[in-house]
Amino acid sequence: MKSSSDIPVFQWGHSRRFNAYSNYFRKIYGGRLQKVSIDAGFTCPNRDGLKGKGGCTYCNNDAFNPSYCHPSKSISQQLGEGIDFLRKRYREPVAYLAYFQAYSNTYAPIEKLKTFYWEALNYPEIAGLIIGTRPDCIDSEKLKYFRELSEKYFIAIEYGVESCYDKTLLRINRGHSFEQAVEAIRMTSGMGIKTGAHFIFGLPGESRQEMLNEAEIISELPLHTIKFHQLQIIKGTIMEKEFLENPKDFDLFSFDDYVDFFVSFLEKLNPEIVVERFTGEAPPAYLHERLWNMKRTDEIVKLIEKKLEERNTWQGRLYKTKDKSKK
Ligand code: SF4
Repeated sequence: MKSSSDIPVFQWGHSRRFNAYSNYFRKIYGGRLQKVSIDAGFTCPNRDGLKGKGGCTYCNNDAFNPSYCHPSKSISQQLGEGIDFLRKRYREPVAYLAYFQAYSNTYAPIEKLKTFYWEALNYPEIAGLIIGTRPDCIDSEKLKYFRELSEKYFIAIEYGVESCYDKTLLRINRGHSFEQAVEAIRMTSGMGIKTGAHFIFGLPGESRQEMLNEAEIISELPLHTIKFHQLQIIKGTIMEKEFLENPKDFDLFSFDDYVDFFVSFLEKLNPEIVVERFTGEAPPAYLHERLWNMKRTDEIVKLIEKKLEERNTWQGRLYKTKDKSKK
């Protein structure tokens, strides 16, 4: 059995081998915070024709929307039902955060956005907002408003970036470039607002080496939090059609491959960035193929931590800070 002196404590102040999201909240609030998803009825410029039609090729928002979320219900009703649902499953958190998750949650005039966000912030158990959006759906007026809110509440903006490579963003029809994502992240973080990003591993046309190299690119972004998920082919999407027509074009991760890859990725990732998710989990009914035999998220996290320990490595072990004076 290991004695406590054998267990290393990493620079983020605990012995887990990655900079874990749960500890991030523990530091700020002294306990666990729980997100409650909301579908406020937003759409997306990549679907309504402003940027494109048909959306990103992998997208089916229903696959990630909990059952209590529906835009026909008010925000308060969704929060109430969501909190009841979560209370039955998890131990009570210190507070809840309203998670504006479906589609692009800053894609509306500012006055309309304010009414949505206020309704959520006025709900008794809600301590703040997490707002998922696209990098091209933000501007300085909205960011100024978020900065004001940040003085009183926990506010975080999460951008869907998905890949650091424009060839991939074009291929999956994202309708924005990586440079636009970098600009949005820099502006948001530069205004003191907590900034997150989401990436997908396994997108068609990207080699494993290219995905691994993303660790260096992402490490230089002023991000507070980051989420990853493996590509899953969701039924009814454009990507499913492409996959059926040309499966050789896709190199989907097996579970064991992903664990190995992810550990190598984490070693190169800036240890300051908090890692919120390693994988995604669309409900089985939406999946084209159940590739990973439906492993639970907590099980996957444990297996990745076990692999980190076996390889005696940790997030940022191979991260090299860039010498900014040489830029
Ligand atoms: S993934 Fe996001 S940005 Fe892409 S089509 Fe779906 S809602 Fe729009």
